[in-house]
Amino acid sequence: MILKDPEFGDIIVRKNPLSSNVRFSVSTSGKLQMSVPKYTSNFLIKRFLNTNRAQIKKSLPINDPKTQRARDEKKKLLTKQAKKYLPYRLEFLAKLYGYNFDKCRLTHANTRWGSCSSNRTISLNIGLMQVPERLRDYVIIHELAHLNHMDHSKEFWEEVASHDPRYKEHRKRLKMFSPGV
Ligand SMILES: [Zn+2]
Repeated sequence: MILKDPEFGDIIVRKNPLSSNVRFSVSTSGKLQMSVPKYTSNFLIKRFLNTNRAQIKKSLPINDPKTQRARDEKKKLLTKQAKKYLPYRLEFLAKLYGYNFDKCRLTHANTRWGSCSSNRTISLNIGLMQVPERLRDYVIIHELAHLNHMDHSKEFWEEVASHDPRYKEHRKRLKMFSPGV
């Protein structure tokens, strides 16, 4: 459930059957999250919020409503762009270098650009739409190479290098960007 608050913007409220008290945290997009026991009434949720308002402001890095809205908009736009681009680029590079993957998934995790799972699903972060094409391709090649090597062994890096000889430079430059939206 989403609670609208003039000060905190959207508040994500989760009713948790296992919890016996109220917990506050921050979502990856900077929204306030409340975990409350299952049968907590809206009245009590609001009262709890108001009693803790000062403490929350002091201790949690919550984005103001305007920043939250801007971020939501940006995420929507990047998702739209990513859907039209990343699965096709992945397919193109896979064909070019002779890889078979099963599925492409788009993510918006804050910490990683991509991943490759043992069931041959490749996940790519929508934040890749914000980095230069060469770095984007490096991430895709990196994940494709994981189809053959599920580690970062010498053989893995040799395979990456065979498709992207300047991968070291690309890897370093990528560190200047953050995957989070
Ligand atoms: Zn890796």
